[in-house]
Amino acid sequence: MGQERGSISINTENIFPIIKKWLYSEKDIFIRELVSNASDAVNKMKKLEAMGEAQLPEDNKYEIKVIVNKNEKTIKVLDNGLGMTDEEVKKYINQIAFSGAVDFIEKYKDKSDDGQIIGHFGLGFYSAFMVSERVQIDTLSYQNGAKAVKWVSDGGTEFEMSDSDKTDRGTLITLYLSDDSLEFVDEYKMRQTLEKYFAFLPIELYLEDAAKEPEKAEEKPAEDKSGEEAVPAAPKPLNDTAPLWLKNPRDCTEEEYKQFYTKVFHDFNEPLFWIHLNMDYPFNLKGILYFPKLKHEFETMEGQIKLYYNQVFVADNIKEVIPEFLMLLKGVLDCPDLPLNVSRSFLQNDGYVNKISSHITKKVADKLTSIFENERENYDKYWDDINPFVKYGCIREEKFYDRVKDIIIYKSTKGGYVTLNQYLENNKEKHENKVFYVSDENQQAQYVKLFNENDMEAVILSTMIDNHFMSLIESKVSGVHFNRIDADISDSMKQENTGIAEEDVSYLETLFKETVNDEKLKVQVESLKNDTIPAVVLLSEQSRRMQEMSRMYGGGMDMSSMFPKEQTLVLNSSNKLVKAVIDLKANEAKKEDVKLISEHIYDLAMMSHQQLEPEAMSRFIARSNEILMKLV
Ligand code: ADP
Ligand code: MG
Repeated sequence: MGQERGSISINTENIFPIIKKWLYSEKDIFIRELVSNASDAVNKMKKLEAMGEAQLPEDNKYEIKVIVNKNEKTIKVLDNGLGMTDEEVKKYINQIAFSGAVDFIEKYKDKSDDGQIIGHFGLGFYSAFMVSERVQIDTLSYQNGAKAVKWVSDGGTEFEMSDSDKTDRGTLITLYLSDDSLEFVDEYKMRQTLEKYFAFLPIELYLEDAAKEPEKAEEKPAEDKSGEEAVPAAPKPLNDTAPLWLKNPRDCTEEEYKQFYTKVFHDFNEPLFWIHLNMDYPFNLKGILYFPKLKHEFETMEGQIKLYYNQVFVADNIKEVIPEFLMLLKGVLDCPDLPLNVSRSFLQNDGYVNKISSHITKKVADKLTSIFENERENYDKYWDDINPFVKYGCIREEKFYDRVKDIIIYKSTKGGYVTLNQYLENNKEKHENKVFYVSDENQQAQYVKLFNENDMEAVILSTMIDNHFMSLIESKVSGVHFNRIDADISDSMKQENTGIAEEDVSYLETLFKETVNDEKLKVQVESLKNDTIPAVVLLSEQSRRMQEMSRMYGGGMDMSSMFPKEQTLVLNSSNKLVKAVIDLKANEAKKEDVKLISEHIYDLAMMSHQQLEPEAMSRFIARSNEILMKLV
């Protein structure tokens, strides 16, 4: 062909400045688009070959190469796919690609962040102009007798077509980078970008740095001295063309799942278990979801779900597609049926997307149920790691709660794990419909001890999410009420009769109000079965929850003073010290000692309830020393 000039046939202002400016934050998508096109071209070639439409040389090996060159300031994307004839360049590049880009910009340029499509999918070939001042295509179609074509454009609406000297089948795109995009000629930067999008591309992908000195012969490893001509090791593609998620789950080994996990998430802790999604009908959905092991007890789960579109990475944690709670897991999902060139808000309301997410939710619930039913021991073992996930899922998704409600378990102070029904059944005689729980095993150790001595059972609910979770269960299971272990003294811990006179009770009340210097202190006298503990402090469940809420939602303001602390000091009349205090009531000489003892009883009870304030702590230490001095 002779030279041909043309103008990309559309009456519009120059779209390239818009492309450049608008997509600036996600500049690297140009490489995703160009390599995706190369991959499409190779796939089409493969199909033609399979249909017998094309004869290819014996040694034909499909591949895509990206070549960076610092000296020339160019990036080349080379494929040996089906190539294009000059007619095809006119049609696909000048018309389709351009109108695609214009459509795209028209549709989205006025949209807020919310209206953006995921990762700007679908901008296509013209995204090359985001980083280039000139783009050149050299392409040779697979068709018999085809002539190679060259297309050049400077990023206006003008282009020039002429003969190309390309001699092998396929397409070479050359980007002459603009000065503000030179970071991409850096081999390291390019490798990172390619690995991000194409770690699992179906066609072998290579990266070359043309500006690098070729390796010198002396640098070859010493083992190569075998007399024979040393053959340089074949370069390795930077992608895995057959990712594990595409394999049939029956053919995957445990080792493979673990290796894949480590490789993709750089997490060297083994995952607990996983779910392999492998579905063709009624929609195409492949992927693997892993339940990670928490590294330490107080860690909150932080997951990562990578979304792929036909083995090309789209983005992480897309909340419009994946139920939010699943993002606490780690995993990969490949959804080639997803309409990615639509806006995020569209996806959110799309029936198809909803079907995908409820399918995933069901699969996760099924997996958990199957472990609960068939490997109960493992289920118990996993529970500490997975419970924040399960609870969060229940709070966020009613459907998930409905599926897993009977397999939620609670760690018991009696050892092992129980379901809610088991707990209620075990304890219905002692406290019907009331669940006692421990939120901090160290702080509440005293109360746990009391429980154990009286053969009572509490459950451990100590993660951040448990407050919300308990409210959920209280709203779902009628009648059930959660009480922190220090909220209440159960009848089964008390003796029938306090065994002390009415007047002694009021004496103790007055004494301790004076001691604490708080007129409003509530004092209660009980005769506990345990006689070693002089006193405990109780805080009503309701008032404690109010306080916690005000702390969480108070926006930094401490509103806890708005809610009076309904603390009750329970004095144990079976305890010798308490008895002694009563006996000494009329003894003037011992007045000072009684004061010391009562102050100490109060502090000790407080200490096993919550941490002492610094001032109270120093008073406690000083008083302890004073008491010890009396022993010498
Ligand atoms: P899309 O890929 O969504 O069709 P693009 O703008 O990325 O839109 O590309 C437009 C068209 O140009 C493609 O449909 C294809 O026909 C053609 N094309 C682009 N790159 C290549 C390539 N490397 N080899 C062959 N054809 C290509
Ligand atoms: Mg494309």
